[in-house]
Amino acid sequence: MAGEPQADCLFCKIVAGTVPATVVRETETTVAFRDINPQAPTHVLVIPKAHYADAASLAAGAPDLAADVLREAGEIAAQEKVDDHGYRIVFNTGAGAGQTVFHTHAHVLGGRGLQWPPG
Ligand code: IMP
Repeated sequence: MAGEPQADCLFCKIVAGTVPATVVRETETTVAFRDINPQAPTHVLVIPKAHYADAASLAAGAPDLAADVLREAGEIAAQEKVDDHGYRIVFNTGAGAGQTVFHTHAHVLGGRGLQWPPG
């Protein structure tokens, strides 16, 4: 069911603490940790603790929680000091767009020049 922990979900396991992660910030509703395969000097993932498969289902099912994730993405950018020069918040949505973990996560990328359009 939407919002409930999923036994086979990697990011639910990070929330539960059964898979290790380099956590940089945590709130009552969210966790932010460093991406294991960083694509920029700052590459942090912000996730809701509750399980929603992607950003659209999170926004539809729990809009306050979606707002928490976006707010935290901004807090991470400030904490990592990438907000002055600009940064990117990315939600890959669907396998065709590169989503590989089906627990909503905001990529916060910064610390280098970022090209547009993305690949
Ligand atoms: P997606 O491709 O948008 O779904 O992003 C998933 C991200 O999770 C990728 O950037 C991976 O490098 C990252 N990732 C996968 N496993 C782990 C992990 O155990 N810890 C931290 N990041 C991970």
